[in-house]
Amino acid sequence: MTSHPTTGPSPDFSSERGEKAAPERADVLGGAETSLGHGSFDDHRPPAQELLDDCVHCGFCLPTCPTYALWGEEMDSPRGRIYLMEMAEKGEIPLDGSFTTHIDRCLGCMACVTACPSGVQYDRLLEATRPQIERNVTRSRSDRWFREAIFTLFPYKRRLRAASLVGALYQKLRPKSTEKLLAKVPDRFGRLVAMESLLPPVSVRQAFRRMPERTPAVGERRGRVGLLTGCVQDVFFHPVNEATARVLAAEGWDVIAPREQACCGALGLHAGREAEAIERAKKLIAVFERAQVDTIATNVAGCGSSMKEYGELLADDPAWAERASAFAAKVRDISEVVDETLADARARRHPI
Ligand code: SF4
Ligand code: SF4
Repeated sequence: MTSHPTTGPSPDFSSERGEKAAPERADVLGGAETSLGHGSFDDHRPPAQELLDDCVHCGFCLPTCPTYALWGEEMDSPRGRIYLMEMAEKGEIPLDGSFTTHIDRCLGCMACVTACPSGVQYDRLLEATRPQIERNVTRSRSDRWFREAIFTLFPYKRRLRAASLVGALYQKLRPKSTEKLLAKVPDRFGRLVAMESLLPPVSVRQAFRRMPERTPAVGERRGRVGLLTGCVQDVFFHPVNEATARVLAAEGWDVIAPREQACCGALGLHAGREAEAIERAKKLIAVFERAQVDTIATNVAGCGSSMKEYGELLADDPAWAERASAFAAKVRDISEVVDETLADARARRHPI
């Protein structure tokens, strides 16, 4: 934790329930305010004050926020989280405690971004805030283990394929009474129970299938599109990748899916693991440069949003800034690729 001065203990907003207006700053602070550089944030890319100032605290974003809908708590809404960032920026609250809890709970779904009439770039604020927590807050041991387990498994396809064997076996042998048993699991293992509930149906055969490195265009060739196959996507949702390649090929693209590609770094970036995300971004940029593609398509929104931000992620690195921006400019969601070529559609359309 940074040693920046604060005006007192972390305010505990956890008792707030129901729809409420943003609390007045003086209510929370007992009237005390300080303004000291970046406050509780360190100097490496803290949330920009001008981005924080864009929020007029109108609350239009609140109904779109799933965590606010779930808990009805101001500090689990976009407005509340921006308010917390402002307070941390002024050094009024530390980054540990309530601040970390409420920022951790944000799903990063960005539903609030499109809902905001003031154009608040909450995505950029969140991406500036999470690395601050990673650098400056010491998490509990269980938290550290849980996060390490996630980052040791999910970005690695081979490990995921091995895990798919266990997952498939578990799903096959899972007794019907499991749900009742899981309901009795103590709260401290709640995250494992939640992960169990999110496990998609596992097909070992699909998990071990590989995309062809080149799927040729059907008919007249429009260009070369690189396909990000992803980590979890390629192992647990492989048919989606195959369908994506079929659609792109039918639209006249040579689809290039380099075998050497690895995780795009989105998982790390969205969790504030900036250094890890930067290394993964560099590797992926180099892979698709070698593939010499015109466009880079993804069918995973979270990966796409990260890859589109490589320019900002590597902006401070003179050796990579230009390459990262050039890469980001080529990134498209599959729906964008299809939409951009709609006027010259090649594949036959059928009624939905
Ligand atoms: S983020 Fe936008 S919609 Fe939400 S409170 Fe701020 S200005 Fe209003
Ligand atoms: S990104 Fe976070 S704050 Fe915004 S709507 Fe999603 S959960 Fe709520």
